[in-house]
Amino acid sequence: MKALSIQQLHKTYKNGFEALNDVNLEVEQGDFFALLGPNGAGKSTTIGIITSLVTKTSGRIQVFDADLDTDRELAKSYIGLVPQEFNFNGFEQVKHILITQAGYYGVPAKEAETHADELLKKLGLWDKRHSSARALSGGMKRRLMIARALVHQPKLLILDEPTAGVDIELRRSMWTFLRDINRQGTTIILTTHYLEEAENLCRNIAIIDKGQIIENTDMKSLLNRL
Ligand code: ADP
Ligand code: ADP
Repeated sequence: MKALSIQQLHKTYKNGFEALNDVNLEVEQGDFFALLGPNGAGKSTTIGIITSLVTKTSGRIQVFDADLDTDRELAKSYIGLVPQEFNFNGFEQVKHILITQAGYYGVPAKEAETHADELLKKLGLWDKRHSSARALSGGMKRRLMIARALVHQPKLLILDEPTAGVDIELRRSMWTFLRDINRQGTTIILTTHYLEEAENLCRNIAIIDKGQIIENTDMKSLLNRL
């Protein structure tokens, strides 16, 4: 089964700028997939459209069995998104942020509590569970964003430049964590402009430049050619 299928995707912003020009992409269930490209290539636009934050101009998107045009809520329930920017209410308590998020997805309270506690422990945030989000360090905020994206147990985790501006130690521990949840069955797609990150983590890769996919292959064949 495909976790994601994108067909003939186009995006022209209101100012007339064509950010995506006929993007076609497929990601298999269970894959660890990188969308690699320089700044301005169209990575965030693509992610924004898949997660319903940005409207597409045309094209078809399917997330597992849900078509974004006809089953948008179902498609959204399958996805967990780790955005590039911190976007939580800094005054809210760490654990409360997770419980609130689970609530948006209709996760029953008891289950939400279990998932939240488990994620807080796994991501080294347990001791901070009663702190307000704004009191966390940058690295902790990033781990909190990952926990928040996973609390409703999505089938597909999408991370937009997950380790941009992150120090090497945290980057390594994030990589280990992501490999782990991928092994447990979560499909992962990340965007990055570091080949090294894609090389370390991903089995398959697409390279996007100026709104077009210029390469779509498995990591091994790509590295053999470089
Ligand atoms: P849409 O066509 O998807 O509705 P808009 O053109 O209305 O998008 O822009 C959405 C937001 O993105 C606006 O707040 C706008 O200021 C901002 N924006 C505009 N140009 C850029 C850009 N080049 N890069 C990033 N954000 C931009
Ligand atoms: P990436 O994530 O690969 O850096 P983006 O998808 O953010 O690329 O942006 C792709 C292009 O679209 C860039 O040239 C950016 O300036 C432009 N862009 C992004 N958002 C908007 C917007 N709201 N309005 C107009 N142009 C935008």
